[in-house]
Amino acid sequence: MSFRISPLWWPLLALASPVVAPWLLLRQRRFEQNCDRAAGLNRTRLDRAAPLDLPALDHVDLTVLVEWQAGEGFLGDAGVSYLLETDRGAMLYDVGFGATRPAFVHNAARLGFDPDQVQALTISHLHSDHMGGLAAQRARQVTLPPELMPSTRMPCFLPDRATAPGFAAEVVEGPRPLVAGIASTGPLARSLFLFGLTEEQALLARIEGKGLVVLTGCGHPTIEVVLQMVRCLSDEPLYAVGGGLHFPVTGGRGNRAGIQFQTLLGTGKPPWQRITDEELGRTIAVLNAAGPQRVYLSAHDTCDHALDRLLNELQAETQVLAAGATYRL
Ligand SMILES: [Zn+2]
Ligand SMILES: [Zn+2]
Repeated sequence: MSFRISPLWWPLLALASPVVAPWLLLRQRRFEQNCDRAAGLNRTRLDRAAPLDLPALDHVDLTVLVEWQAGEGFLGDAGVSYLLETDRGAMLYDVGFGATRPAFVHNAARLGFDPDQVQALTISHLHSDHMGGLAAQRARQVTLPPELMPSTRMPCFLPDRATAPGFAAEVVEGPRPLVAGIASTGPLARSLFLFGLTEEQALLARIEGKGLVVLTGCGHPTIEVVLQMVRCLSDEPLYAVGGGLHFPVTGGRGNRAGIQFQTLLGTGKPPWQRITDEELGRTIAVLNAAGPQRVYLSAHDTCDHALDRLLNELQAETQVLAAGATYRL
């Protein structure tokens, strides 16, 4: 297995250890407290969840604006932006790294995406690869490229407190319908070592004659918890699951200067731990037990090894989402 930090960095790490070690210990304490907090929050939310009145949609078309994998002529990036179109309207789910990297603008132009064609923007969670870049994350401010700003003030549904200039920002407090016949699971919490307590909302829709469609952003709350919530919101059969499952097991995206950032800082765990193959195996078992007919994987937060296992071991018809493609769910 390759080093997550190149040995070239080790002398510097040793020098910095008197500062880094106490910081890591402090973070570890905060991380453990947040694990309890997140579990408590999710338990309360699951207990309180009541069935949602989901309209029967004819279809949901998922067009991928930003993803790690990309079709010919499109740019891949380790972020997420999905356009969701139904027979009741349209919604944009996440905006990748926004204007800070070329993929969102380039792919949107190539697809002829017009921001005025959607009724709302929904942000899965407040991370740079979903809300418009690192500065956007630091400022807790959803940031779109100017050329992709809608001309009217539409809602921006947020999983947690943040601003969204140009939009009517609205924090989604719990499970509820949004627009286009698509609902939110409401925020679900996860303690992440580096990023602290993180709230993420998944999307839920019901297709006539097929069943439920569930879409995640990074999948931080874990797909297990998301599906537990979905089961509280509807007893329709599960038809499709899509989006990030967050499994950088043997590698990750965006490695730079000999440092594997995603496997080191992006696992949610302390940097000295890894996401294991056993954990991936448990998630595969949970997904197989939930029994969706189709799974659409995101490669932006899941390594090639994990994607291979998911493609081989999931009983559902499974594919990896690619920028530029449209999937009729
Ligand atoms: Zn992500
Ligand atoms: Zn994330």
